[in-house]
Amino acid sequence: MKKEHDIRIDRTKLHPWLNYKLTLLLKQCAKKGIYLIITQGFRSKAEQDALYAQGRTKKGKIVTNAKGSDYSSQHQWGIAFDIALKYDVDGDGRITDDTYNNKGIKKVAKIAKSKKVGLAWGGDWVSPVDTPHFYLDKWGDTPSKLKKKYGVFNNFKKTWTKEVFGTKKGLNIWNKTRTKVLKKKLPNKTKVNVMYIGKGYAKVEYNGVVGYMKAKYLL
Ligand SMILES: [Zn+2]
Repeated sequence: MKKEHDIRIDRTKLHPWLNYKLTLLLKQCAKKGIYLIITQGFRSKAEQDALYAQGRTKKGKIVTNAKGSDYSSQHQWGIAFDIALKYDVDGDGRITDDTYNNKGIKKVAKIAKSKKVGLAWGGDWVSPVDTPHFYLDKWGDTPSKLKKKYGVFNNFKKTWTKEVFGTKKGLNIWNKTRTKVLKKKLPNKTKVNVMYIGKGYAKVEYNGVVGYMKAKYLL
């Protein structure tokens, strides 16, 4: 099997910050010879309902306590993804028996939780313990804050992109220390993906360039 990650999700449906952190995770894992399958990302209400039915009205074992209509799964808000392993953890020359090898998943969790990546891990939950699950913890361990603030997913999703506006000559993307321009003068109406807004600056991604823009020129 080729040594590469297997991404089985639509990454555009992940929150831009999570998507960026996923890139960091994949990079850090590959450096250590760890390859991942990204099995689950965003889930629609229907997909969440189908999962909820598993072990209840359909066969299989129960894997979630979140009904689609509750919007209480982080997956329904685009702030979580699930992984499986695609590398030979136990050194027996095979990969397929290690898909959910606990030792391997713990290695990934250590990388994911490190400062370099900064994700939170479902394996740290008490109930249910969800070791393949990684998420953005900005809004806590559940989507209740998101539900309260945005009501429905689409209102939340609107905050993921912003447009450059009100500039005379366009807006730069800067590096972290604001000492270097990474992308020059993006004109008004340019759409950028917004990871978060800090003190006067927004962390953004535009065509693969990740950096900082003045928040007051983003609408
Ligand atoms: Zn999950």
